[in-house]
Amino acid sequence: MNPYKLCAQKIKEGGVVVFTGAGISRESGIPTFRGKEGLWQRYDPSIYATMPQTLFTFLSHPSKITNFIIEFYEILLSAQPSPAHRIISQLEKAGLVKAVITQNIDNLHEDAGNNQVCEIHGNAYEVFCIRCGYIEKRDKDEVKKFIEELKNKPAKRFPLIKFVLDFMGKCRDCYTRLRPNIVFFGEELPPKEIVRAKQLLKECKVFIVVGTSGGVYPAASFPYEAKQSGAFVIEINLSPSFQDIDDVFLEGKASQVFEEIFSFI
Ligand code: NAD
Repeated sequence: MNPYKLCAQKIKEGGVVVFTGAGISRESGIPTFRGKEGLWQRYDPSIYATMPQTLFTFLSHPSKITNFIIEFYEILLSAQPSPAHRIISQLEKAGLVKAVITQNIDNLHEDAGNNQVCEIHGNAYEVFCIRCGYIEKRDKDEVKKFIEELKNKPAKRFPLIKFVLDFMGKCRDCYTRLRPNIVFFGEELPPKEIVRAKQLLKECKVFIVVGTSGGVYPAASFPYEAKQSGAFVIEINLSPSFQDIDDVFLEGKASQVFEEIFSFI
């Protein structure tokens, strides 16, 4: 049988969980961080995305970190959901997709209209309190304004630090300083999101893995857990990351592949 038609049939039975990585946002204009054009080619993640080094660099050389913040958010802010994001959202509205588990922090699943999104690596438009776990959302327009202002800030150390910290704010409950709700290298994943993801892995009937290299743990074990729970595993990627357990591997760009599957639904 045509593999796209087979996947459409499976999806039509419902109970679908979609698991996404950086590849799905590639067509939205966000490069995968590790790729040739990725951010980590120019910014060493051990300095820019690893606590406490990042905090130390921010306090000692704030402009180093703010230059990175500007470039990072300019990429994120210019991105729009791709056709793949939009089809997944339509499938949720149709009651076929139960939830999306994503490693991405770009908010594009929510922008596309998905309500059930489990973000295991955080969200770049949120700040959170490490003491009590309180999370606050930052509007995209607010972030855009902050980035524009940051670009015009003189590189004087203390005013720059204060400007960034003031934007992040303090916890409304315990007044602790808020920090970006992004999981840095080596940090623990948000426990609530992990519990939710694990439940979804147990319950799903179809597990669609999109655009992930499977290089980041524990996310890389999710397809195996879903398979063990009896899910039909579909992988969409330029080359397979989970060949050993894929029931169907669909080679190609996420949007093209989703459009092809959707034509049979
Ligand atoms: P990765 O960079 O390790 O791998 C990307 C995968 O996407 C590769 O397997 C590649 O073949 C595939 N791919 C590239 N273009 C594609 C396309 N058009 N369609 C389908 N697949 C495509 O990404 P990862 O496995 O998600 O791990 C990277 C980590 O970095 C994650 O933890 C993630 O949180 C973070 N990250 C997030 C974003 C974002 O929020 N958009 C972007 C880059 C990295």
